[in-house]
Amino acid sequence: MADETVDVKMQDTSKPDVGEELERETDSSEYVEMWIDLFLSRKGNEYFCDIDPDYITDRFNLMNLQKTVTKFTQVIQYIIDELDESILEKLSPTKLEQLEADARKVYGLVHARYIITIKGLQSMLEKYKDADFGRCPRVYCNFQPLLPMGLYDVPGMDSVKLYCPSCEDLYLPKSSRHNTVDGAYFGTSFAGMFLHTFPETVPKHPTKKYVPKIFGFELHKQAQLARWQELQRLKLEKHLQEIDVDLSKNGGFKN
Ligand SMILES: [Zn+2]
Repeated sequence: MADETVDVKMQDTSKPDVGEELERETDSSEYVEMWIDLFLSRKGNEYFCDIDPDYITDRFNLMNLQKTVTKFTQVIQYIIDELDESILEKLSPTKLEQLEADARKVYGLVHARYIITIKGLQSMLEKYKDADFGRCPRVYCNFQPLLPMGLYDVPGMDSVKLYCPSCEDLYLPKSSRHNTVDGAYFGTSFAGMFLHTFPETVPKHPTKKYVPKIFGFELHKQAQLARWQELQRLKLEKHLQEIDVDLSKNGGFKN
């Protein structure tokens, strides 16, 4: 453990810039301690893919995100496990909690950008194939895998929704955990970009549609019946008025 601390400090001294390429240990014991892996393994974060650290450390990809949190550089360093442990140790539990919340937010916002890149789309394709985003609850969609998306690109507006490429409609995630995930972390363009990039994933538009029935009658026949009944009622009203029946009074007795 002590050796790891020294390693981190040495890396910080030699590579103080977040934008520089990072060398990562492949040792499995260190691997599980990485912030991104911990984040992805938490329940409720199943829709997120693993962002390539090279993408997160490229300042070009972080443009206009700096103002979303205070101490942006520190948050990025925290996400990629490059934040000096001495800084972490000095943080109060409240500040550490804030740093963790900021890291989740920044990861989400970078995620929205990453998943519309070639690498990100590829990662999401794997998750889509595994139906990590769930399947369409509509019977005639035959368990079609869904795609996560946001109705807004600005965070704090609405939670993530699920798009079915078969019935072309949106659904709420089944789990309450997913219903609290910000839609902006997936964005408004991802689903469209995904289907455009992987046209083979676009299912055949379903022609089968359920027509409601009541005791074997299709609902439009029921509607026809209702219209006929209404016509009969109007005819009767007209007849009653002709014979001086006051329809405004209960019972409709003749004056
Ligand atoms: Zn569907």
